[in-house]
Amino acid sequence: MTTDLPDRARVVVVGGGVIGTSVAYHLTRLGWSDVLLIEQGSLSGGTTWHAAGLVGLLRASESGTRLVQHSTELYAGLEKETGLATGYQQCGGVIVARTEDRMTQLRRTAATAAAFGLDAEMLTPAQALDRWPVMSVDDLLGAIWLPGDGKVNPTDLTVSLAKGARLGGAVVAERTRVTGVLTTDGRASGVRTDRGDVEAEVVVNCAGQWAKQVGALAGVTVPLHSAEHFYVVTDQIEGVHPDLPIMRDPDGYTYFKEEVGGLVVGGFEPVAKPWVAPDAIPHPFEFQLLEEDWDHFSVLMESALLRVPALHDTGIRKFYNGPESFTPDNQFLMGEAPELRGFFVAAGFNSVGIASAGGAGRALAQWIVDGEPDTDLTAVDIRRFAPFNGNNRWLRDRVGEVLGLHYAVPWPNRELESARPFRRSPLHERLRSQGACFGSRMGWERPLFLAPAGEEPVLDYSWGKPRWLPWSGAEQHAAREAVAVFDQTSFSKYLVGGRDAEAALQWLCTNDVSGPVGSVTYTGLLNARGTYESDLTVTRVSSTEFLLVSSSATTERDQDWIRRHVPAGLEVSIVDVTSAYAVLGVMGPRSRELLERASGSSLDAFPFATSRHVTLGYATVRATRITYVGELGWELYVPVEMAAGAYFDLSAAGAPLAVV
Ligand SMILES: Cc1cc2nc3c(=O)[nH]c(=O)nc-3n(C[C@H](O)[C@H](O)[C@H](O)COP(=O)(O)OP(=O)(O)OC[C@H]3O[C@@H](n4cnc5c(N)ncnc54)[C@H](O)[C@@H]3O)c2cc1C
Repeated sequence: MTTDLPDRARVVVVGGGVIGTSVAYHLTRLGWSDVLLIEQGSLSGGTTWHAAGLVGLLRASESGTRLVQHSTELYAGLEKETGLATGYQQCGGVIVARTEDRMTQLRRTAATAAAFGLDAEMLTPAQALDRWPVMSVDDLLGAIWLPGDGKVNPTDLTVSLAKGARLGGAVVAERTRVTGVLTTDGRASGVRTDRGDVEAEVVVNCAGQWAKQVGALAGVTVPLHSAEHFYVVTDQIEGVHPDLPIMRDPDGYTYFKEEVGGLVVGGFEPVAKPWVAPDAIPHPFEFQLLEEDWDHFSVLMESALLRVPALHDTGIRKFYNGPESFTPDNQFLMGEAPELRGFFVAAGFNSVGIASAGGAGRALAQWIVDGEPDTDLTAVDIRRFAPFNGNNRWLRDRVGEVLGLHYAVPWPNRELESARPFRRSPLHERLRSQGACFGSRMGWERPLFLAPAGEEPVLDYSWGKPRWLPWSGAEQHAAREAVAVFDQTSFSKYLVGGRDAEAALQWLCTNDVSGPVGSVTYTGLLNARGTYESDLTVTRVSSTEFLLVSSSATTERDQDWIRRHVPAGLEVSIVDVTSAYAVLGVMGPRSRELLERASGSSLDAFPFATSRHVTLGYATVRATRITYVGELGWELYVPVEMAAGAYFDLSAAGAPLAVV
């Protein structure tokens, strides 16, 4: 039976998986009952139905953990409200360690759990065996017990959430496909479907692996890409019972969960298998799986046989290969899209969508209702990405690495290796030939340290002191005692101009930015609660134009904040000039001496927090006297095409000063 399609709703949610139903449910709980959920097939028929159903409580961040905590409480109690069971069971979880490094990680996990007020207990191999008697522990060093972990039936959960939403007033329309997003005056104003148009104040894109396509209908970038994701379900095994905890063996990339007396054996292999591009997903694709790939699965199966010897004599009941969408940094995508007001996204759940759905659904519903999040959701905010992150080839190359991160040791200072280099400063090759080791931020390759001649410029990961520490230390000494030059090109830069630019910035900034041309002001951008959205420098470059410089990672977020909060009626333009200027930081007590040598002019009369043009060889650059190293210093804003020359001139002038 097909539900009548209303021609308007306050909120249209696109996608009837676990995320869309959770958002719809929570909107109704917050009193927004006029909600229409649209699903092209049947509820849960996209990715949700074939999830393994693990609900791991402890996340790397406190805010992530609190989201899952809400999920567990919701899943445990939803049946009382809807009459439909979710299958949630708090069975606990064991994570085993094969190596000392993994043991260190587990000890840190125990400390994190304590900090978040959650229970966790370190186990000896023998104690781990008591908790999970069907495994071999001969090669294990220890384990951790997480009593808060659980499991749930993903389809039952989705159907129960949908019923809860309906009870709260929402309408659920299955077999209805969104084919367009309607906009009015730069705001989402509804959707076009294959059954007619629906007007709405808010549209929420919860379309899972289809969310990139649905975003494209609205001109919104949703950077995700599917990878094939695998598990098998075995025949019954003696000793495997419904209360058996979840068991994870991350050094072997595998997890195990009881199902009908057998085991679900799945995992996160280090090199994943990306599926088709998001705009090439076949249609229809409902309650469908991909082909079995035993070759690819063998890395997981071999490890599973080692951990659970009984698998040698156990048949496989079913092989599941389903596509799941992954994002470039293994965090999901949430929030209002910077490209279109009233268009929200919750997608790209990186194989933790079932665990996250309750908390993420509540957080997004609250964000929609109140206009801003009430907890720190920076890590999942969709504005951490820019339109260039929507490149399918780049995404494909990246997700091959992302899936495996779930079970990789989370080393301090870890850098992703795939899909790089992406954005390069004009000095990239020069610095590389000087022995620079690069990290990546907002896609930019950023030099982390210079390795001395004869040493390989690589990040060696460890819980202890890394090999590169003394090299980095030498740079720090140079900046404190002499002078060092930093490539800071990745800084976000905007030109804010127009008749009312000063008035707009005076409204936005906490500090007074109305100083004379050439003044530089360090200031915050605060929200209505009085907490920081951003900190940046504002340089007045003319009576009607200001250069704003903020951190590399927040280009889209800061720009979006500024655009949204310029008071109505003011005549202001905002242009992102990040890619137009390289930035050279010249820092240290001898920085003046170096710049004077390179520019051939005196910088004596150059007070702190001022900015003006200086010449550097053939280039004319903006020099701003500001520092974040606690010493004298300047930032040089150099047109990109002149950056290589400017750096050459600085290096030549610096040779006698032993510039680092
Ligand atoms: C093998 C495997 C095992 C997993 N195991 C776990 C696990 O143990 N624990 C865990 O937490 N997570 C797990 N996951 C991840 C989890 O399944 C997903 O993160 C989650 O289901 C994503 O939910 P969703 O609602 O975002 O997507 P979906 O369930 O795919 O829902 C999106 C819906 O949008 C609909 N849609 C798309 N386009 C349109 C359109 N134009 N108009 C209307 N409707 C549209 C689709 O039909 C679909 O139903 C696993 C995933 C896989 C593949």
